[in-house]
Amino acid sequence: MPYVALTVDLDRDYPVPVSGKIKAASYSPECKPSFTCTIKGLRALIGFLEETGVKATFFIEARTLHHIQALEDALVSAITKNEVGCHGMDHEDLAGKYTGVPIPPHKQLALIRKATEIISKITGLKPTGFRAPYLSTTPNLGEILRNLNYKYDSSMYLESFKPPHPYLLGCKVFEVPLPLYPLGEKKATLYTWALHEGKRSVDDFKRILDAYLENDDGGLLIISTHAWHLAYKISSNLKLSSREVRENISLFYNFLTYLEDKGASLVSIERYLKEVKK
Ligand SMILES: [Zn+2]
Repeated sequence: MPYVALTVDLDRDYPVPVSGKIKAASYSPECKPSFTCTIKGLRALIGFLEETGVKATFFIEARTLHHIQALEDALVSAITKNEVGCHGMDHEDLAGKYTGVPIPPHKQLALIRKATEIISKITGLKPTGFRAPYLSTTPNLGEILRNLNYKYDSSMYLESFKPPHPYLLGCKVFEVPLPLYPLGEKKATLYTWALHEGKRSVDDFKRILDAYLENDDGGLLIISTHAWHLAYKISSNLKLSSREVRENISLFYNFLTYLEDKGASLVSIERYLKEVKK
């Protein structure tokens, strides 16, 4: 039976790196962090999860969680019905790939520790998985996660025609790779990004899913999204109406039915590692 995980990067509205700065901004004329699209998208996503009973894996930026809690505490308890992971304190570019400011290992440890403590305190759940903001990983990340008792990282792409298998980073921490599908010269990720931006059709996305499911040999197929992307269109810098948010959510209903028809089982990453990859 193919295993599929839905993962949600729960961060500020379209986070963008700022040259020379550690903390991320949001893509807006003022470049200030904002959270309105994240919260609007999250509300819709929670509705989908509650209605269908799907358990997602949320990789949470601690600063964003603070804002969610302050504005709508009920959303926090809805998140805790799912798996809770960590996505940094202020959406830091750990390797400094885009900011030009690589964060030294001791500071990475301190940042991830602080984020972990905040997420644990607010949700009452200790995160067991990590996703690096911008997927910007460092060679020492596995060791840091082991020190903080994380079970896995999920920040690296693996080019493959079949659902990738998690592997050990050499320090008892699993890497649970994100699938990267070879499409001729180009490569397709299973982030829903291109769908929301109108750059990939639902049928094309399903064709990629099909190929993965046909080649499955027990790995885990990760489909990923961002809460804010359900309520914001980057290419036209447009905050979406409630009707448009519903249209984005309907994609998830569509994929869920499709995956269930194909016999796929939707699980959180934690559950897959516990029950399948023992
Ligand atoms: Zn992010």
